[in-house]
Amino acid sequence: MRPLRLSTIALFALLFGAPAVSAQSAHDGASDPDDGLIRIALQAGHWRSIEAPDELARIRSNGTRGGGKEEWEVTLDIAERAAELLRARGYEVEILPATVPPGYRADLFIAIHADGFHSPSASGFSVAPPRRDATGRAAAFAEVLAGSYREATELRHRVATRRMQGYYAFNSRRYHHALDPSTVGVIIETGFLTSPLDREILLNAPDRSARGIANAVERFLPIPAVGANDSP
Ligand SMILES: [Zn+2]
Repeated sequence: MRPLRLSTIALFALLFGAPAVSAQSAHDGASDPDDGLIRIALQAGHWRSIEAPDELARIRSNGTRGGGKEEWEVTLDIAERAAELLRARGYEVEILPATVPPGYRADLFIAIHADGFHSPSASGFSVAPPRRDATGRAAAFAEVLAGSYREATELRHRVATRRMQGYYAFNSRRYHHALDPSTVGVIIETGFLTSPLDREILLNAPDRSARGIANAVERFLPIPAVGANDSP
């Protein structure tokens, strides 16, 4: 039975070994530009926020809540669904918790959050690039993401706040645990957890949120056709 056991192990390695190895290398922030992979980081807002380092002690919270869910449960669910869509389309995807590894690098970084308000009438989503963007491309991606998310969810597009533009993960001058300035990053508030209307999407149809995010990535950074990697 030895040959059978060996082939079972080989099959397991084939199915599960490769993704585990590449996820690890992406986690080092050591993105290898020569492997031809497009690396997408999806941050599940507030997920494992209790693990935030001292420099980010103020983010140790679960965020908002609504419909019996904490914000991190909702953002993680959307991130996982979007990751599945993107991996199926050939992207290398890493889901990040609230704490970004120091100097983190990826081709695109999307922080996924949900809003809350004291009135259930506040509704809609918003997208923001960093206030200071060294890449010069984040504003364009934010626009693509807003269009794609609106298409997929039919939620109202709200103007982003200054607070979103100053998101901690964008601020590498102030925080060690922040994106490398070469990473194109945006933040999306996917809707209000305190709005019954928005919860219809966030809790009852999260695949629509995930599709809006995945489609935006594909529009902004399409995977080159086979063979195109050979050109300089
Ligand atoms: Zn949040």
